[in-house]
Amino acid sequence: MKPTILDYTKEELRTIIKPAFRAKQIFGWIYHQYVDSFDAMQNIPKALREELESKYSLMPLRILRKEEAADGTIKYLFELADGKTIETVLLRMKEEERDCNGLLVHHAKYTVCVSTQIGCKVGCSFCLTAKGGFTRDLSAGEIVAQVLAVKMDNDIAANRRLNIVYMGMGEPLDNLDSLAKAIKIFKDEEGMSISGKRQTVSTSGISSKIDKLGKMDLGVHIAISLHAVDDELRTELIPMNKAYNIASIIDAVRRFPIDTRKRVMFEYLVIKGKNEDLDSAKKLIKLLHGIKAKVNLIYFNPYPGSDYRRPDPSDMVKFQEYLVQHGLLCTIRDSKGIDISAACGQLKEKTGQELEKESL
Ligand code: SAH
Ligand code: SF4
Repeated sequence: MKPTILDYTKEELRTIIKPAFRAKQIFGWIYHQYVDSFDAMQNIPKALREELESKYSLMPLRILRKEEAADGTIKYLFELADGKTIETVLLRMKEEERDCNGLLVHHAKYTVCVSTQIGCKVGCSFCLTAKGGFTRDLSAGEIVAQVLAVKMDNDIAANRRLNIVYMGMGEPLDNLDSLAKAIKIFKDEEGMSISGKRQTVSTSGISSKIDKLGKMDLGVHIAISLHAVDDELRTELIPMNKAYNIASIIDAVRRFPIDTRKRVMFEYLVIKGKNEDLDSAKKLIKLLHGIKAKVNLIYFNPYPGSDYRRPDPSDMVKFQEYLVQHGLLCTIRDSKGIDISAACGQLKEKTGQELEKESL
């Protein structure tokens, strides 16, 4: 199978394509002009276009299925070149901003939630992605392609502001090389120009890799999937907590280079009867003391066969109010696109079940 040209940073392209200045032109054709073939790269000599065509593929995925929720959230199921599937979600939020005359303007704020692996090795007990086990890592180009394909499919202008969250399928830090490369390709000012500040890596807490990512100094944000305040429950939810316990994660967060204007996000999946008590809220405040943190409470989203239950909204609000009263910034994640998807892994699952039905 041919590698995708999206796997390469501009610097890499400059070393493999002669003359080197063509790399910038190729980047422009791909990330600004959204061409669908090498042949459409008009100012590239025919011989080079043919060489590129013979060595690389352009788009390593195609839309297999797409669902749009009432709130405008779109969930994609993409098929990769080897027939495997991954999910990507486009979230649209209204944003208010003052223009240069001080007038209030409204525009859509786009966030793309991308996958980094097919399946996941971490095996969290609440997560549908974990149930299917691990298949393989995504290449940098397969990560980049998700955002590019979503932009192309929705006619989102190349220079439009956009955020990326690495919160789809897989554990991003378990695929650190491809992740780091994708972050760099997204950041390239002659490409999509998505700064590190607008990219958030969500991790289940591989402390050593949080340190490694920090040392790369890519300027990205991190979100920690904490979900529990004591190691016993956290190990039940995330078995890897045995190797990387809560204390080791908090230490790694304290070492992580954080933009002074920003906060580290701690995701707290709330499961009925497990972790929504105010004693846990109290421990959470103590745990995050001294960290510029923001807590995001997430409703556990049940799926057929899941062992856990969704919490009551009143308990969610009580938990949130307790944290806020004690000076911790805390939001409840609004369930974007709940009618189509909710937690990741579910569109893929649905398609699998439907395919099974069809083959009966
Ligand atoms: N592996 C990374 C990123 C992908 S998971 C991580 O764990 O952080 C992205 C988010 O989806 C995580 O915060 C995870 O807790 C959440 N999630 C997984 N299963 C869920 C479910 N059934 N209901 C609600 N959120 C879920
Ligand atoms: Fe993997 Fe994240 Fe799911 Fe855990 S929650 S199994 S780390 S994708």
